[in-house]
Amino acid sequence: MTSRNDQLFEQSQKCIPGGVNSPVRAFRSVGGTPRFFAKGEGSRVWDADGKVYLDYVGSWGPLILGHADPDTVRAVQETAALGLTFGAPTAKELEIAEFLTGWLPGLEKVRLVSSGTEATMSAIRLARGHTGRDLLIKFEGCYHGHADSLLIKAGSGLLTFGSPSSAGVPADTSKHTLVLDYNNIEQVNAVFAERGNEIACVIVEPVAGNMNLVKPAPGFLQCLRENCTKHGAVLILDEVMTGFRVGPKCAQGLYGIVPDLTTLGKVIGGGMPVGAFGGKAEIMDKLAPNGPVYQAGTLSGNPVAVAAGLVTLRKVTAPGFFDALGAKTRRLVEGLAAAAKAAGVVFSAQSVGGMFGIYFSAKAPTGYAEVMACDKEAFNRFYHLMLLEGVYLAPSAFEAGFVSAAHSDADIDATIAAARRCFVKLAG
Ligand SMILES: *Cc1c(COP(=O)(O)O)cnc(C)c1O
Repeated sequence: MTSRNDQLFEQSQKCIPGGVNSPVRAFRSVGGTPRFFAKGEGSRVWDADGKVYLDYVGSWGPLILGHADPDTVRAVQETAALGLTFGAPTAKELEIAEFLTGWLPGLEKVRLVSSGTEATMSAIRLARGHTGRDLLIKFEGCYHGHADSLLIKAGSGLLTFGSPSSAGVPADTSKHTLVLDYNNIEQVNAVFAERGNEIACVIVEPVAGNMNLVKPAPGFLQCLRENCTKHGAVLILDEVMTGFRVGPKCAQGLYGIVPDLTTLGKVIGGGMPVGAFGGKAEIMDKLAPNGPVYQAGTLSGNPVAVAAGLVTLRKVTAPGFFDALGAKTRRLVEGLAAAAKAAGVVFSAQSVGGMFGIYFSAKAPTGYAEVMACDKEAFNRFYHLMLLEGVYLAPSAFEAGFVSAAHSDADIDATIAAARRCFVKLAG
C-alpha cells in the first residue's frame, strides 16, 4: 500500500520542481520520501499518514516556541482580522523596530523585509554603497541566502576570487567575492593586509549553522571586528539563524561583538515571513529614501507577520527563557553523546543556546573540511532509524538542529531513549 506521503510526493513532482519549494526538503541527502506535514502542536508534528514525530527542525529555526504557540496564533488571528496588508506604514512595524533597536546595542536603525535572503542581499548592497567598494568576504560552509554574490565557493588560492556554486550566477559576480576558511584567523589577517582597502564587507554566521554546527574559535569574531574597523570595511553578522536562538542578545551578545550591520530572520518572525537588517544609523541612512542605496518590498513589515514576531520576541527575551532552553538542549546533546558512547558509535554533539549539532566524528568539527570528513553514511542510517522511532531531525548531515521551549524534559528523554536503540542497531 502506498502511503499518503508517497502519493503526495509523486504528485508534487509533476507540478513543483523536485516536488519541493526549497531543495533540502526533498530528502536527497538522506534518501527516501519527504514527510508532508498536516499539523504541528508544541514539540510535535503529524505527517500526511497520521504518524507523529518529535520535531527538532522547527521549520529550520523559527519555531522557538514550538508549533502553533497559542499566543502567537491569537496575535496573528486578531491582526489578520484588521486587514492583511496595507503597503503603508503601520504602528505594529514601529513597535517591532523600537523593540529591536532598543534591545541590541549595535542596532540604531532597522529595516524590515520578508526573508533572510532579502536581509543579507540588502545588507551587502548597503555595505557596498556605503563604502564605495565591491569586494565581499564570506566563509566556506556559511549560508547567507541565495543572492548571486553569495552563491560563490572558494577559488583555488587564498587571494584568487571564487567561482559560482550555482548555475545562472554570472562568473563576473564571483570576481567580487573572496571565500575564506571559517575560523582561520591568519587567513583573514593576510587578506586584509593585502587587499584591505578594497573590502566593502565581511559577512559571517557568528555560529555557523549551515554546515551542521560550528562554533567560532576564540578570537575569530574579534579578528573580523578589528580588521573591519582598521580598514573601513563593514562587518555584517548574519544572525538570521542565531538571532534570538543562541541567547537573548543573539550571538553578538554571547561573544561580545558589536557589528556594523546585523541581519535577522527566522525567530523574529515567529513562523511568519519576517527578515530584518539594521545597524549604525550612519550606514542605515544611506538607504532610500534618505540615501542612494535602493531597497524596497511590497509586503515588508507586514502587520500579520510582525504580530507573530512581536509575541515571539517578547517571550524569548523574558528572564530565564534561555537558561531553560539552553539547559534542555544541553540535556539532549549530553544524552545523545552518552548513548552513542555506550553503544560504541563514533559520535559527538554540542549545543549553543537552543541550537545543536550532532556529528558522526570523534570530536566536534571546527571548519568546513572537518564537517565534510564526518561519516555521512552513518548519519543517513541513523536518520532513518530515528524517523521510524518518531523523531524528526533535519534531513541532512550538514544542518543544525533546534530545540523549542515546547520540548519537555520527557520529550528529550524519549528522544535519547530512541537514539540509544538506534545507536545499538547502527553498531550491530
Ligand atoms: C536561513 C538563513 C538565511 C536565509 O534565510 P531565508 O529566510 O531562508 O531566505 C540566511 N542566513 C542564514 C545564516 C540562514 O540560516
